[in-house]
Amino acid sequence: MASTKLRYILILAYVVSLGSCATNKTHHNNVSEFNCTRDPAGSIIPGTPGIRVTTTYCSDYVFTHDAMRKAISMFVSDYADSFQVEELEVWELLRGLTIELSAIPKTVGNVYDINGNFLKEEVPVAGLALSKDVIWVEIKTPQIWSSSLAHELVHIIIWRTQGVHADPDHEGDAYSGWTQKHTEFLKNFRLKLLDLEI
Ligand SMILES: [Zn+2]
Repeated sequence: MASTKLRYILILAYVVSLGSCATNKTHHNNVSEFNCTRDPAGSIIPGTPGIRVTTTYCSDYVFTHDAMRKAISMFVSDYADSFQVEELEVWELLRGLTIELSAIPKTVGNVYDINGNFLKEEVPVAGLALSKDVIWVEIKTPQIWSSSLAHELVHIIIWRTQGVHADPDHEGDAYSGWTQKHTEFLKNFRLKLLDLEI
């Protein structure tokens, strides 16, 4: 009898904790629906140097401006700290960037993985640096830590600093710019966002 009751209490406690977890998740939903008919050119994230958000499809999803501003501001401050540059300099390197978001995945061929291995066949990608001025980022979950936003921002900083390329092969030897320190920085930064549920 006693053990049945204990089990009942345990199960109840589990259900309650699941319930509160679900509530938290809803509370930290950083994604909203977007429709291009309202905002054909996308919109600039307030408090950033003209960083614009657009979507791949007219009817798509975006991370909220508030979540984007928090994540990018933290990125700038952490990057400045880690690589010993002024925050203003990092903001300047991101000026006028367009961030194209989408909930619809993409596959592309002829890309490099993080270790510099060249993948000729089409593989799913979480993000792309399309040019010096445009990145594409897939929205996988309602939180930014699970996306490749910070990864693509590093590509843009390298691209705009070096002028010629974004170091597409990351830690590989074919292109220069991306170091082990960049990979390590991103790992830590992602954990920080995860912790803050951004
Ligand atoms: Zn990359």
